[in-house]
Amino acid sequence: MRGAVLYGPRDIRFEERDAPRITQPTDAVVRLSATSVCGSDLWPYRGIQAVSEPTPMGHEYCGIVEDVGRAVTKIKPGQFVIGSFFASDNTCPNCQFGYQSSCQHREFVGGAQAPMLRVPLAEGTLVATSDVPSKDLIPSFQAVSDVMGTGWFAADAANVKQGSTVVVVGDGAVGLLAVLSAKQMGAERIIAMSRHESRQKIAREFGATDIVAERGDAGVARVMELTRGVGAHSVLECVGTQESMTQAIRCTRRGGYVSYVGVPHGVDLKGEELFYAHVHLHGGPAPVRRFLPKLIDLVWSGNINPGKVFDLTLPLDQVAEGYRAMDERRAIKTLLRP
Ligand SMILES: [Zn+2]
Repeated sequence: MRGAVLYGPRDIRFEERDAPRITQPTDAVVRLSATSVCGSDLWPYRGIQAVSEPTPMGHEYCGIVEDVGRAVTKIKPGQFVIGSFFASDNTCPNCQFGYQSSCQHREFVGGAQAPMLRVPLAEGTLVATSDVPSKDLIPSFQAVSDVMGTGWFAADAANVKQGSTVVVVGDGAVGLLAVLSAKQMGAERIIAMSRHESRQKIAREFGATDIVAERGDAGVARVMELTRGVGAHSVLECVGTQESMTQAIRCTRRGGYVSYVGVPHGVDLKGEELFYAHVHLHGGPAPVRRFLPKLIDLVWSGNINPGKVFDLTLPLDQVAEGYRAMDERRAIKTLLRP
């Protein structure tokens, strides 16, 4: 089979790779219905995160189970399944506590920008739908695999509740879906920080009530103005830079919550500022597995349509263009059809 392999900065190739097969009794092999490019794939693509050897790319996936190892009994060939970027046993203490992305036996699931994927710890990792979904639902299920689950975690970790005032920092796919998640959790006011008109439009569709185009200190000042000098109860940081993190903490009310779900790159927090900020901080790699059953229900019942964040769909063999379009900000997020 052929899949996407990153060789170095902006050098992504679609080339022959070994087809995955069952290597452990707990594995499954899935034939992918869709795959996609993640914002976090752009860090190594841009050379900000070094790659030491040619690396098969992609960690967002959904599809039909092709084969399972002998220890897998609850997941069966023919089922439509969704999993997350960390395989987890879903039984260890960290999993039981809802932090499957810190599973004691976690394994990163890589190489999903391909027609087939090996998923370790299949029974803990994969969630099967009741039926094989129609084609029009595939983009939304694909979004649930990572960006939607991550946006949901952002809202959950920032303690968004009925009536909350929420700020979302970042207008990438995760930020937009964090807006959608906050809306689902009953937020009354959702302030989306975005400078791009097309993204502002989706943010409003997803439930944003206010848009702040300013950044940095000016952005903080604008949020303070909108919240009568108090700040927001919940601030969802969905980027991972020093600027966005600082902005998030400074927009939060005393006693409020900051969640952070973008992989931090060069973020340094000052102890003293944090001390006087009086905020709760909670973030990390989203335990998407915790939210999969709920999110699958919300998609299946038509309550949410997170697939809207895919504004570019390409056949898998054009994966390089999919990266380029996101790198050049011509696309929010690329869906690839194997
Ligand atoms: Zn575990």
